[in-house]
Amino acid sequence: MKLVFATHNQNKFNEVKVLLPPSIKLVSLTDIGCHDEIPETAETLEGNAQIKADFVTKNYSLPCFADDTGLLVDVLNGAPGVYSARYAGEQKNANDNMNKLLSELEGKNSRSARFETVIALNLKDLHICFTGIAKGEIIETKSGQKGFGYDPIFQPEGYNKTFAELPLEIKNKISHRGKAIRQLVTFLKEHPYK
Ligand code: IMP
Repeated sequence: MKLVFATHNQNKFNEVKVLLPPSIKLVSLTDIGCHDEIPETAETLEGNAQIKADFVTKNYSLPCFADDTGLLVDVLNGAPGVYSARYAGEQKNANDNMNKLLSELEGKNSRSARFETVIALNLKDLHICFTGIAKGEIIETKSGQKGFGYDPIFQPEGYNKTFAELPLEIKNKISHRGKAIRQLVTFLKEHPYK
């Protein structure tokens, strides 16, 4: 089965591809000739994931899923949350976003946070969402080269390394996206697409 993952982010695409069974041929937006930046105008992760999946369904009529992820920091009342990508501005720069978050957390007595991923799957008339959560904390200085986004400042619960220091196999085992994708895979196995 050919399944579109509605993303232009090659890092995310690679993370997800290794989690899917060989029976699913995963293709990206670029692979289907879609070069649009799909606007994320909703105020929830679920809303944004659905907008992206619906865009592909409407314009390409292919089975697809989209994800939206937020980093929610408790002491900042869940910020940056749904605005994680453009936390430090429309340039959507990972370093700028991390720097802003580190400065917002200076002097705060709690650094607990969680990543949340919502995946919206569209198969013909079926629309369903899956959510994955990874708890952890924001460390004080960036550490590690792997991964992307906020990975160098996020240390998952039970580890003394950041996501950017952990091998992809470990990140995928415990990450928000890994957990959501495994629910998606279970669902697809139980509901084979004809
Ligand atoms: P998006 O929904 O995938 O666009 O992600 C929103 C924001 O969260 C972007 O700034 C991403 O870089 C960041 N982000 C998403 N997933 C991860 C992750 O697994 N690790 C670190 N940052 C992430």
